[in-house]
Amino acid sequence: MILKTDGRIQVFDKEYFETKLPVGKKSGEPLFKSFVKKGEVCYSVKFSTHPAFENVRIIIRSSIDSNSNNLISGSSGNNSIRIYIASKRKDGSIDYSAKILRWITRYPGWDERILDQLSMYRKIALATGFCNTCGEFRSIRRRKDKKYYFAHCFGESCKDGYTDLGEIVDGL
Ligand SMILES: [Zn+2]
Repeated sequence: MILKTDGRIQVFDKEYFETKLPVGKKSGEPLFKSFVKKGEVCYSVKFSTHPAFENVRIIIRSSIDSNSNNLISGSSGNNSIRIYIASKRKDGSIDYSAKILRWITRYPGWDERILDQLSMYRKIALATGFCNTCGEFRSIRRRKDKKYYFAHCFGESCKDGYTDLGEIVDGL
């Protein structure tokens, strides 16, 4: 439930937060799993049933303090909700995408903003796809001049091209 509003920021618990995360259209089963990272409850969200994407997930950092008594989100001044993409490589390492959008504030409507961003990240992940040489999920990075985001494989012998993701990112 929403416990209180601190300024305009809503403070909610883990149980309530999870009712706002996606479930399978047919199965109704959760498409997410929770884990704890640096004292924060996080979620990995499955966005495609295609086996190729088995090791790729959208990650949500919820701002919920895993050490708090009732697992509640931060109050104002604490971290907002952040979303990015992570892929597990064949050697077991994890590749994290550049953070594409601004943090999601916990002002009213944050639940819809999460779903909007999940939808956009799904499009980005599908457009990113896999390296033609080594088969790894490609990396998502922001160009140094910050003009646009791109997908590319940085493997040593990979000659994969750049895919400009700008159209998707700017389309939100
Ligand atoms: Zn490659």
